[in-house]
Amino acid sequence: MVVQTIVDDLQKRPGFGDVIPVIDPVSEQQIAEFTDGGAKAVDEAVARARETFESGVWQGKPGSERAKVLWRVADLIDDHAADLAELDSFNTGMPTDQAQAIMGTAAEMFRYYAGWCTKLNGIAHDIQMTGGVAQLFSNAHGYTLREPYGVVGLIFPWNGPVFNWAAKLAPALAAGCSCVVKPAEETPLSAVLLHQILERAGVPDGVANLVQGYGHTAGKALSEHPDVDKIAFTGSTEVGKQIVRAASGNLKRVTLELGGKSPVLIYDDADIDTAVLMASMGIFIHSGQGCICGSRIFVQRGVYDRVVEGISGIANGMQLGGPKEEGSHIGPLISEKQLNRVMGFIDEGRKDGVEIVTGGHRLDRTGYFVHPTVVADVDPAMNLFQREIFGPVVAVMPFDDDDEVIALANNSDYGLAATAWTNDVGRAHNLAKRLQAGTVTLNCQMVYDHSMPFGGYKQSGWGHEFGRNGIETYLQTKTVYTKI
Ligand code: NAP
Ligand code: MG
Repeated sequence: MVVQTIVDDLQKRPGFGDVIPVIDPVSEQQIAEFTDGGAKAVDEAVARARETFESGVWQGKPGSERAKVLWRVADLIDDHAADLAELDSFNTGMPTDQAQAIMGTAAEMFRYYAGWCTKLNGIAHDIQMTGGVAQLFSNAHGYTLREPYGVVGLIFPWNGPVFNWAAKLAPALAAGCSCVVKPAEETPLSAVLLHQILERAGVPDGVANLVQGYGHTAGKALSEHPDVDKIAFTGSTEVGKQIVRAASGNLKRVTLELGGKSPVLIYDDADIDTAVLMASMGIFIHSGQGCICGSRIFVQRGVYDRVVEGISGIANGMQLGGPKEEGSHIGPLISEKQLNRVMGFIDEGRKDGVEIVTGGHRLDRTGYFVHPTVVADVDPAMNLFQREIFGPVVAVMPFDDDDEVIALANNSDYGLAATAWTNDVGRAHNLAKRLQAGTVTLNCQMVYDHSMPFGGYKQSGWGHEFGRNGIETYLQTKTVYTKI
């Protein structure tokens, strides 16, 4: 019911470019279409955002008032959790219960950042100056103001539409920014309902503007726009670099949450059953379409065979299917393009002589399903080891000691996340220091909390989301001196 209404609303949205089809990755059929907003919709949205920012209708509100609105957004997300989950699972093919779990997280993101609205204070300092002309003002007071950047462009991918939306909108609005939002072209549906929710919660008209369209049209126009002060981007490292270049025209600020090729280290003294289960979930869940997926698993030699057998067994036991198919654990890849990309990596590895322990093929059915795949005998120079695949494909490799595995784990342009499984507490903390990653999980995996900063080392990103760092990213600092 909600799906049809939103499909209709999407189609009615103003557009100025190509008609973009929305494809169901389970049936491979078109389920909706919309018109690319392109540069013109971006121009209009930026102008609206600018007007609201300058008028102070949102940034000028007391923090406590913005907090109340954000709290109402959270309540409305809760009220519509089933609708939003239906939209995201319909659009991405992910199991509905997994989509549902994301909705609670999205609502909590708004509650968490609602709390920060009243705590955006700077520092104060009494200053005594001596010598020269400064003596005229020998007693001064200095303080800082934390001010929103202004108009921010928010661009994100399709892998968790509601979550990605909330991760950007909640801190940006809490900081007082006015926003232009560009969701992924593959997943435009839930954003339509979310923007209706913002309106109902009392976010003033023009403060949060939705532009639907392609990255190379609307996304590019937004990142180049001379009247946009900042871009917050989640997506691939390749597009992240394009955004940086596009943003250089007016030196707009940029934060980037990019790709990963995250290592998982399993030592022979670990709780092997738990490590095997979590390492499997950590790559196969959501068909490997998660930025922190552990796509390289290093196993200490004594337990290598047991771990590879365990992970392959779980891979073979996973039921793939669409949200309407009973008992599905994981859904399809988002698009035919991603399917071809993932299969391309597997086929290349096969030609290069890697061992396909299990999987390595798409399912013999309709939909962009790839069998969870385990590969061995992978050389660190290979693309299977170096490139982000963003599919259910994991490379497993044996190791003997700390130095060897650290060198292997850090042999990557990426540095998003890393995991170590070992019951040696001292070793675990040493590994946490030596692993080059923005997030390290010890004896746990896929742990997330919106109160903790999340960001990438190396080419996995610039800056942070979540926690206090997540709102700081939308604030600039002004220093004020006053004679007393
Ligand atoms: P992508 O191709 O980089 O696209 C991400 C977003 O950028 C989409 O909205 C896309 O529009 C837009 N875009 C594309 N070209 C653009 C351009 N020239 N200028 C401005 N915007 C442009 O990424 P994806 O393939 O959709 O998503 C997968 C990637 O996201 C993976 O690399 C994954 O690791 C990363 N990711 C990172 C995190 C994190 O927090 N670190 C979280 C989730 C995903 P279109 O939809 O038209 O392409
Ligand atoms: Mg894309």
